[in-house]
Amino acid sequence: MKTFFAILLLITQQLFGQTTLDKIQSLNLEIVEGNLLKYFSNGADERADNLEKLLGNSISYFENSLEVKESFSIAVLDSNDWVKVTNIPYGLPFVSGPPYIVCFPSSNKNVLGQIIKSVIKNYNLSEDYSKSDEELIEIFISMIGFHELGHIYAKEYGINFPNKWTYEFAATYIAYLYLTDVFPVEADIWLSISEILEKEIKPNYTSLKDFENLYVRVGVENYAWYQVVFLLRVAEVEKEIGTGLLKKLLNTNLTSSDKYLSLDMLEDIHPEFLSWAEKYKLIEEIK
Ligand SMILES: [Zn+2]
Repeated sequence: MKTFFAILLLITQQLFGQTTLDKIQSLNLEIVEGNLLKYFSNGADERADNLEKLLGNSISYFENSLEVKESFSIAVLDSNDWVKVTNIPYGLPFVSGPPYIVCFPSSNKNVLGQIIKSVIKNYNLSEDYSKSDEELIEIFISMIGFHELGHIYAKEYGINFPNKWTYEFAATYIAYLYLTDVFPVEADIWLSISEILEKEIKPNYTSLKDFENLYVRVGVENYAWYQVVFLLRVAEVEKEIGTGLLKKLLNTNLTSSDKYLSLDMLEDIHPEFLSWAEKYKLIEEIK
């Protein structure tokens, strides 16, 4: 979804010659420099602090683990400020740049927050994690922002992505690596909410082919379903080989066939990609 809107954004930038960072700077928001440079709307200081706690060490983490050095700032925006800087629906975190800035909503009252709220209410997550549903939703939305950040690192790391789904998969993989290592509880919350989303969402489309062809046009919920299914596989592989998959991907010239869309090559690198694809009907007739 965000790539599609990122393209829109790029067009807007070319038309008006203003980057998202320029636009955010022109809002005259409060700016605080800590581990990260933070811009935030009125009243969003606490959420900005929470995000800084989660993301502040990621720059040095990726420098050490992937040897990729990137810098970025964050913006936490209310809906009024949000619409002044982007056409992306309020609530869907996105990255713009370079210079990179990751934008988050300052409230859970948005399209993504509503979907999560409606699916987790019948589960006891808040008891399991001693956090309110609102806190859990905030964490989940933050994770989507980290996934966006994962795209920057995936690209800079040097892996070749022949299709959309492998690029989405790798972005989540990178975000999840950092979180499991540094914030295991938050990583677990991301996974638990995703397991619920997978159970509750009834997708119209399940094949990778449809994902490639339609992408964000599958609809917000169905798009979330695909991303969730990617995360479920990411978590399995991370448990088995940690950062190993990224290194293997770096040494493979990943290509895509019409039928398998890189799944057969991934199966060669690490087993069970095909059975995962079969489980979620990512390929209709796999055998
Ligand atoms: Zn993405």
